[in-house]
This record gives sequence, C-alpha cells and structure tokens, in this order.
Amino acid sequence: MIGYNEIKKAVLEKHLSGKTLCIHSSLKSFGPIDGGAVTIINALMDENCTLVVPTFSYDFEVPPPHGTAPVQNGMDYSKISANPESKSRIYSIACNDISKTMGAVPAAVLSMKNHSRGMHPLNSFASVGPGAKEFIASQSFENVYGPFEKMYAQEGVLVLMGVELTRATAIHFAEKLAGRNLFIRWARNAAGEVQESRVGSCSEGFNRLQPFVSGIEDTVVVGNSTWKIYDFKKFVDVVTEAIKNNPSITHCDDPDCLRCNDMLKGGPIL
Ligand SMILES: [Zn+2]
Repeated sequence: MIGYNEIKKAVLEKHLSGKTLCIHSSLKSFGPIDGGAVTIINALMDENCTLVVPTFSYDFEVPPPHGTAPVQNGMDYSKISANPESKSRIYSIACNDISKTMGAVPAAVLSMKNHSRGMHPLNSFASVGPGAKEFIASQSFENVYGPFEKMYAQEGVLVLMGVELTRATAIHFAEKLAGRNLFIRWARNAAGEVQESRVGSCSEGFNRLQPFVSGIEDTVVVGNSTWKIYDFKKFVDVVTEAIKNNPSITHCDDPDCLRCNDMLKGGPIL
C-alpha cells in the first residue's frame, strides 16, 4: 500500500512543485493507495501545483438543430433519431455531472469545494490550486481548449499517470494547431437554446505518436503506476509537427472510423 508520502516524493523528485499540471490518470494503475484519489490530489496541492483534469459530460449532447448538418463532421446524421427537444437538461459550471469513463481523480477534483469548472457542456476541464480560476476561465463552447492555450504559453506540464497517449486530450489541441477544424456538437446553453460547441475527435490511434514523444518523456514509478511527464509546449509542438508531416498518424485501427476519416480530411468544412 502506498500513500501521501510516495506521491509527494515523486512530485519533488520530478520538480513538479508550483507547476500547472494537466493530468490524465488511472487510479487502478497505482495499486492499493491509502485514501484513494483524494490522496493524490492533496499531495499535489500541498506542493502548490495547479491541477487541470478532464471532466467530460457527454450526456448533455443534443442532436443538431433541424436542417443543420455540417459536412465532414464525423457524424452520421441518418442515425440521429432523437429530437433536440427530447433533451432539456442544461449544463452549468456548478453541476457535478461527469461521464463515468473520466475516472476517479477527475471526479474527486469536482467534489472539492474550491474547484473551478470550464464553461463547456460536453468537454469541460476542472481545476484546483492557485491558478485554477485563471486557467479554466478561458474555456467556452467555442474554445474547448482555452485552458491548453494557457498551459502551452505558461510552462504547463502534461502528466499521464498509468495511462497511454490515447487519453492525452492535448493531442486534439495539437490537431487544431496542425490546421484541423474541431468537430461540432450541440448542447443547450444557459438560456436553454441549442448551441454549437467544439469537441475533439477519436483518440484510439494516438499511441502511434509514442515514438515521436519518447525523446522528451520523463518517467517515474509511483506504486504500480508509471507516470509519463512532458513539458506541455514541447509535447504539443512535437505532436503538431508529426501530424502535419503524416496526417494519417492519428487514425485508429478501424478503417471505417467516421471520426478519424473526417478528421484526416481536416474536419468539418465551415
Ligand atoms: Zn477512430
């Protein structure tokens, strides 16, 4: 069983104190951990880290408004049956809704009193720590990766705790920088109207980018969990370049994947 001290040791050893960390994590990867996800968060916060985690909430998605069907949008409109009116729930930054696949650490961040959550109904990020408000305020329906723009400009760090590149949302940000248009999905805004938002594509093929980031990767083992640590800007730059040089590098194993196929062509035509 590991606990607070082992997490803290890794933070100190890797000079993560005071930094803004984008964290993707598998709590299971640690093995038994005293106090669970909260222990990880507390150890990082006690070192003045700002944590940014994905708190996606796919349930707020509604079908496109009648007559709206952007082409090359990774979406088969013939398969949409529900009417937007059938889903009336409204996302707010105060709600605690989170999709189950996000995992224990993001759920624990959301449950903390002083967290900030981004204004994106489907792909929000949540944050705790000294820079939380500042990083999260830049997220909107249209600017899903606002927090990443800040991390990129302000020496953020990407930390993958026991997960692979398939979980690294920063790669979608790199897709955008490489010139791709992000997919359009819809959800209700505060006024209850159906509004466009932008989201990332399929990430199942992202492990194919591993050879490109290995040279800038630092690692540390905490319990049974291997953390992969990257300078956020370097990571995004390397991945953006790799995508520009070989767009098919991000494609998953399914040749019929609609999202990958449309994203490789550049995403929705605006
Ligand atoms: Zn795919």
